[in-house]
Amino acid sequence: MKAYIENFIKAICPESPELYMSFFDEETALKDATGLIEDLRKENMTLRYLLWIRHGCEFKYLYGDDGEMQCSKHGIDFKRLPAESIKECFFANNNMKFQRNTTVLGEENADNA
Ligand SMILES: [Zn+2]
Repeated sequence: MKAYIENFIKAICPESPELYMSFFDEETALKDATGLIEDLRKENMTLRYLLWIRHGCEFKYLYGDDGEMQCSKHGIDFKRLPAESIKECFFANNNMKFQRNTTVLGEENADNA
């Protein structure tokens, strides 16, 4: 059995990969992989929905329907952007807030000096 198939079986059946391998056939493995991918896709969409709805912006900035999950304030398309790009947008926005807060604190400290 090829190593990538064994690794795949260990990933989808970590409790007892040997048992799964004893019943292994390609058609079953393909069906399991397809189901696993579909489950992960559904979970990914649920998590994207929760992130979109709860990322901190007021509802007036959010646009959503069957095909869209967007925030006009941040310019983020929560349905289509890769997760890494969404993370970069958040870090960019948090950095801007942090720098703004630091500047305000710095100005207050300068005033008190
Ligand atoms: Zn937003």
